[in-house]
Amino acid sequence: MAFEGLAERLQATMSKIKGKGKVNEADVKEMAREVRLALLEADVNFKVVKQFVNRIKERAVGQEVMKSLTPGQQVIKVVNEELTELMGKEESKLEVADKAPTIVMMVGLQGSGKTTTAAKLANHLRKEKNRNPMLVAADVYRPAAIDQLQTLGKQLEMPVFSKGTEANPVDIVREGVEQAKAENHDYVLLDTAGRLHVDEALMDELQQMSDEIRPHEVLLVVDAMTGQDAVNVAEQFNEQLPVSGVILTKLDGDTRGGAALSIRAVTEQPIKFAGMGEKIDQLETFHPERMASRILG
Ligand code: GDP
Repeated sequence: MAFEGLAERLQATMSKIKGKGKVNEADVKEMAREVRLALLEADVNFKVVKQFVNRIKERAVGQEVMKSLTPGQQVIKVVNEELTELMGKEESKLEVADKAPTIVMMVGLQGSGKTTTAAKLANHLRKEKNRNPMLVAADVYRPAAIDQLQTLGKQLEMPVFSKGTEANPVDIVREGVEQAKAENHDYVLLDTAGRLHVDEALMDELQQMSDEIRPHEVLLVVDAMTGQDAVNVAEQFNEQLPVSGVILTKLDGDTRGGAALSIRAVTEQPIKFAGMGEKIDQLETFHPERMASRILG
């Protein structure tokens, strides 16, 4: 299960402080030390950990806690609020263009779950939001990606625009968007190419694509299982593309939590969705508050 170790450690720390009728600075220090270790152990970015721990220490020795009748519980409330804040505070909605179609470009490394997530998102938009999306297969480098998207499209009975693997990806997305307009689709989701590592050629091509079609959303798909690597990748994409949000995949796995807890603070981009399994309907809107409560129990 995701966050298992982190949840266990934080819950143990919180249970020590919970029933205390009085909380002194030494208690807060000890709690902060344990929280710090738990977060580092979960592979949370060290700068993020430092800021986080400083904030909870500052708040826990403040008036709101010390003067309260239930200081132990107030400390837990502070930690919960700060964890929520770390992951983005509130649910972050998908952009809707003033003039349809809303163009959503999916980017990320190979294997992150981009193609699957493009189809999942299309399914979500139709089912939950009553939208009429179209998919565009522009990942011409991973041989199976186009077939995979077409298969998913068939399963969903949703159109997939493709020009095979020989066409130029920038042309594919331009024509795909034109077709979406002509057929009155209100969303067009572009599955772009990824590679095993971020490289210049990939970024150049994605930049060209983005310059050409001016997407309303550039969603970065990252594999939550890859911890700090995911965060580093996110930083690189974010520096070079107009990224507008993150989708964390494989949160159903046993990720320690490092990516989920660091990515927002490091990139300043909201986490919009979470992939919770391989099936097409296993995509959830990301709720920072629920995630924090899940971790703290
Ligand atoms: P791409 O190379 O980025 O397009 O990656 P794919 O969409 O082909 O996904 C790579 C693998 O990850 C596939 O086996 C997917 O089924 C799997 N996958 C994608 N999202 C999730 C998820 O949220 N949970 C799990 N468990 N597997 C996922």
